[in-house]
Amino acid sequence: MSSTIAAPARPSDAGAVLHWQQGFAALGEAFFTRLAPTPLEDPHWVAADPDVAALLGLSPAWMGSEAALAAFSGNALLPGSAPLASVYSGHQFGTWAGQLGDGRALLLGETAEGQEIQLKGSGRTPYSRGADGRAVLRSSIREYLAGIALHGLGVPTTRALALVGSPTPVLREEIETAAVVTRVAPSFIRFGHFEHFAARGQIEELRRLADYVVQRHYPECRAGEGFGGNAHAALLHAVSERTARLMAQWQAVGFMHGVMNTDNMSILGLTLDFGPFQFMDAFEPRHICNHTDRLGRYAFDQQPLAAHWNLRCLAQALVPLIGDMASAQAALQSYADTFNAQYLQCMRAKLGLRQPHADDEALLAELLRLMAQDAVDYPLFWRRLSEMVATGNPAPVLALFKGRDAFQHWLLSYQKLLAQDSRALQADLMLKTNPKFVLRNHLAEQAIRAAKLGDFQPLQTLQTLLARPFDEHPRHAAWAGLPPDWASSLVLSCSS
Ligand code: AMP
Ligand code: MG
Repeated sequence: MSSTIAAPARPSDAGAVLHWQQGFAALGEAFFTRLAPTPLEDPHWVAADPDVAALLGLSPAWMGSEAALAAFSGNALLPGSAPLASVYSGHQFGTWAGQLGDGRALLLGETAEGQEIQLKGSGRTPYSRGADGRAVLRSSIREYLAGIALHGLGVPTTRALALVGSPTPVLREEIETAAVVTRVAPSFIRFGHFEHFAARGQIEELRRLADYVVQRHYPECRAGEGFGGNAHAALLHAVSERTARLMAQWQAVGFMHGVMNTDNMSILGLTLDFGPFQFMDAFEPRHICNHTDRLGRYAFDQQPLAAHWNLRCLAQALVPLIGDMASAQAALQSYADTFNAQYLQCMRAKLGLRQPHADDEALLAELLRLMAQDAVDYPLFWRRLSEMVATGNPAPVLALFKGRDAFQHWLLSYQKLLAQDSRALQADLMLKTNPKFVLRNHLAEQAIRAAKLGDFQPLQTLQTLLARPFDEHPRHAAWAGLPPDWASSLVLSCSS
């Protein structure tokens, strides 16, 4: 027998230690119900994101351990964890839906780095409203990859640390299997949390929530600067600004959320709750990615307006704190200007234009019109345009258009603008702005189909590509091409 005594684990070898002192749980019992996750039968690893693990100070050794698998399947609690399901309400598809809540999510706690850890798919809660509290492998893979893809593109989002599967059957349109995603964000508070307490006239709770969000996440709003000392008006304004910037980024990268209900709107301006989301393939401004959204309330080109509608619900909820509706409305005044300015800035970068030009807005509008007319593939267009600027060869980008003359005419105006600046710097900006790899539906679907058969390699490859989407990854060129014909028959709905 060896007489060596094992050295105590270094902090980097340890798992996550959670604490609640100043966290969400300190808000009090009106905000949540404490309960443990429902154990997941026979769990197995599907994926883990080393970048998120590093963010939380979790070592690769611990992430590979049985303790981590048990924690992220909901079968054991992390030290310091006191799980809870939070209550919120919300407007769904423009209609007041009343009380909702974490129906299948549990907040485990907060790490020393200020990141909250949440399990999604960990069983029923008092807010499950008759549903099973579970998530299926298919939608969990989509959520897992969406966080990686958006983060890789520089778009604010919740992220996923881990994905665990189980043979437990779960009934959706057909029988699928259960999975648990471990999500990470500085806060999972939604517009709907505010609407909940406002609708019930629980003004003290509403105030506590708003003060907590200001204190923890918007300290610059404490003094209510620019809003006559009203911190809550300043908060609403700051949320509006962040949301406007998020919408500009979604529109620029071609991201469609699909279910922009107020209960899915993050108070931090993060992309939150991935269901039937989609990245644009063929450019169609009115595209509806959510099969259930028959009227196109959340169609691609409606997203900035939908976010503004949601902000008005938040404003309404904050009226008891702000004082009057007019002041609340005033806090949203800058939304359209911020969105327009940010969107133009994002699109200028996609075009390689490093400064504003008098003609850039008209040039962009004409380009989008031509792309829509010919249903040009959105990611491929931008990458090929970047390559054209880098190499001088217009043939590949030209080949994407049916109306070649009209596009060539556009190219002449565009090249005139480009001529005013350094070509090398423009190409560099474009190749760092227009990704080669995008989480297209068919790529997610391929990873899902393989994972259902126990092959996690395509998921792993996709994860690697999406984490660094601007790199060439020459061995994986096939993952950067047009969607196959079968992709257009993929149907996405809220069922997940
Ligand atoms: P979503 O449309 O996914 O944002 O969900 C709306 C509400 O339904 C949220 O309160 C969810 O927690 C809840 N929910 C969705 N799916 C389930 C499920 N399988 N079990 C329990 N609650 C669910
Ligand atoms: Mg939701």
